[in-house]
Amino acid sequence: MAEETIFSKIIRKEIPTELLYQDDLVTAFRDISPRAPSHILIVPNKLIPTVNDIETEDELAMGRLFTVAKKLAQQEGIADDGYRLIVNCNSHGGQEVYHIHMHLLGGRPLGTLVTG
Ligand code: AMP
Repeated sequence: MAEETIFSKIIRKEIPTELLYQDDLVTAFRDISPRAPSHILIVPNKLIPTVNDIETEDELAMGRLFTVAKKLAQQEGIADDGYRLIVNCNSHGGQEVYHIHMHLLGGRPLGTLVTG
């Protein structure tokens, strides 16, 4: 059984955060240390530590990350200019919190390369 992270507490609303969206499969909230004018994290409610741990049964939740990202991008007013979706995996990918999360970043030009 994977160890819970702070994201499980956010999903259960046990710690305060700016919750933007929640349904039966995913939760979205603002990143505490924003790297762009809009920086939102979208996470599955189920604790899946990394992309390497995704099972076939998780496909609906993984797809929901994208449809919620699209909705939130529209809500933030960044859909037309564009935005970036990032999922980091393990140490070389720069993952710090071991509960899968999709970063939604936008509100400024982000450049053409993803670098470290
Ligand atoms: P990653 O490097 O992909 O694992 O990203 C983890 C992200 O979680 C970072 O951008 C952090 O700023 C963010 N983060 C960590 N703790 C919190 C928190 N309590 N609320 C919101 N975002 C957080």
